[in-house]
Amino acid sequence: MTPKTVLVLLRSLLRSIGSLLGGRIRFPQHRLGSVLELPEGDRFVLYRETALRSAAAGAIETPRLWKNADLPRNEWVGRGLTIHFGDNVMGLWTADDLDERLGKVTVDQHEGQDIAARFDHPGLGMLQTVGTTPGVGAILGFGASASGFTFQNDPADAPWDTTGRLAGPELKRLLGEYRRMLQILVVSDDRPHRRNGVTVTPGLADEHGPIPVVNYEPSEGDQKRRDELATIAADILREGGASHVHRSDSPPTALHVHSTMRMGTVLDEACEAYDVDRLFVADHSALSNGVGGANPTNTGQALAARTADEILDRHF
Ligand SMILES: Cc1cc2nc3c(=O)[nH]c(=O)nc-3n(C[C@H](O)[C@H](O)[C@H](O)COP(=O)(O)OP(=O)(O)OC[C@H]3O[C@@H](n4cnc5c(N)ncnc54)[C@H](O)[C@@H]3O)c2cc1C
Repeated sequence: MTPKTVLVLLRSLLRSIGSLLGGRIRFPQHRLGSVLELPEGDRFVLYRETALRSAAAGAIETPRLWKNADLPRNEWVGRGLTIHFGDNVMGLWTADDLDERLGKVTVDQHEGQDIAARFDHPGLGMLQTVGTTPGVGAILGFGASASGFTFQNDPADAPWDTTGRLAGPELKRLLGEYRRMLQILVVSDDRPHRRNGVTVTPGLADEHGPIPVVNYEPSEGDQKRRDELATIAADILREGGASHVHRSDSPPTALHVHSTMRMGTVLDEACEAYDVDRLFVADHSALSNGVGGANPTNTGQALAARTADEILDRHF
């Protein structure tokens, strides 16, 4: 056992005794202990009520669990959801143009290193190629739109040739030429708004209580940032020689979800809840915003690792 382990255990023991004497510990029968095994082989029995509580069930479930538990009311629990309000802009090249530029007649975005290019625009968000297979690409790029079908829209003054959901011969044409297309994912730096987030209402429930109901409505600013990014994406594709540019105007899709238990409103700087002593949150709900529109997972993981250190510093 290393001196550091001894120190941590001693501090933990002293705190546990303090809590015990202070009457803050209960030992329900079925939660008496679990075994912690250190890499060196030392084994300890942990009394769970002396251990810290941490939540890392993701940005939808964590606030939902809080709301369904008997915890203090904080008006920001579950609020401020950001989802990187996304969109898809796709370019199509003719075989001749591709041959001239690449020396081959297809793009084949789904082969090889697919997420191969990324463009960050601080204040707006990010663009990246995604290299989806035809099925997923068709869903994201052609199959869903907030503005109806392409034939309902007149993009005369827009930087794209078609916008909306594709159907009929146009869908067949573009999907048939998928190997000569490149898709750019628009990832907006949407901002936390109090109206967006997770609520629970009595009714449909599972073993954790009422299920979460998620609401997301972008603000005008979020829409504008996404429009600007989509325009940049269209420009990039045109500059690259695309003969047809399609924008899907995707409906809100929650692949990246964050900021529903935000540091600064629900959590302090160590991700410990302001209102619940020793409750730490270690998932993307703890992020104060959508981290500027970048892929969030590295930041979320780094924050969780930092929170682990903060737990040690504060409580052991
Ligand atoms: C299709 C797709 C592609 C993505 N691509 C990228 C990418 O390229 N780059 C990137 O940075 N991000 C990407 N993301 C986003 C990334 O996956 C998430 O942002 C990240 O996983 C969120 O981490 P989290 O810890 O907050 O939540 P999660 O990863 O969702 O972890 C929460 C965990 O808690 C568990 N859980 C829930 N409820 C309970 C409960 N009551 N009790 C116990 N456990 C519970 C869940 O099973 C889950 O394992 C992608 C997401 C999707 C869906």
